[in-house]
Amino acid sequence: MTVKCFNPSCGNTTPLRCSRCKGVNFCGKECQEKIWPSHKHLCKAIAKDPNATCLLLDGMGCLGPGGFYAEGVTDALVGAGVKVTTINLYKGDYLPDQVASVLNELDRYTSCIILGWGSGDAEIETAFANNEKFKKTIISWVRKGGRFIVQGERPKVRGNWPKWFGKEWKQGDYCRTDYFCFANSDSDPHWANWYHQAKGALTNTNGRYNAKAVLLKNVDVEDVLFGTTEDSSTYSLVPQMRGRDVEEGQCAVAHGKYGDGSVSFFGDVNAEQETCRIMSIIASGH
Ligand SMILES: [Zn+2]
Ligand SMILES: [Zn+2]
Repeated sequence: MTVKCFNPSCGNTTPLRCSRCKGVNFCGKECQEKIWPSHKHLCKAIAKDPNATCLLLDGMGCLGPGGFYAEGVTDALVGAGVKVTTINLYKGDYLPDQVASVLNELDRYTSCIILGWGSGDAEIETAFANNEKFKKTIISWVRKGGRFIVQGERPKVRGNWPKWFGKEWKQGDYCRTDYFCFANSDSDPHWANWYHQAKGALTNTNGRYNAKAVLLKNVDVEDVLFGTTEDSSTYSLVPQMRGRDVEEGQCAVAHGKYGDGSVSFFGDVNAEQETCRIMSIIASGH
């Protein structure tokens, strides 16, 4: 496909792609060399495994890239047989544009996970949240079947990505409690189906999921994967923070359909094993 040369000051259109990653177009050596300092990090990561189907963007969170969350999720993905490309986000020019270009040009990525949205570096987050090309690409990529998975402390700080998909998800409470997988009820065929397909997502029984999580409110019932119930209360080692009522209808994991794909939000901040497994199951296509 002939697209614009990635060097923004060039203006040519070209069918030529970077020979190493094949995810970004350059009209020639000159443009490639000019952009190389901004491209090399991503380029090498993309080229590393040409069969990877999951793009993991790590490093927005307060701990930076390579934290325990990335470790837990990567282990779970590998366990689920999902090949992953990890991009350690860095401050640099054109990063969201490059990610958009890669999703556009390479059709092998079927899932994209962002870790730490809303809790770390404002510069990187703002660059992604306000980038029109990234926004447009991620919306059309999900519509065509992509699975966009976001973990973080604030879904709508510096931009409002749920809104990109017509989701009115808003930030609610933040606590550790038992959440319940509504799919456990066979009266809800949408989630019952998911739950049966994803058998093994939960290590404990009864559809319970205990995590310290940022909760969402305003989530459609059919988008609630793990939600609170009327008798949910906080759990904490600190006595004063224990046993507090949690408002009904809040949601620790939202997972909604959009076009042929899906968008998910994980409020868990501790990389609980169950969370990582559920992410890997969604990334693997269930
Ligand atoms: Zn050029
Ligand atoms: Zn490249």
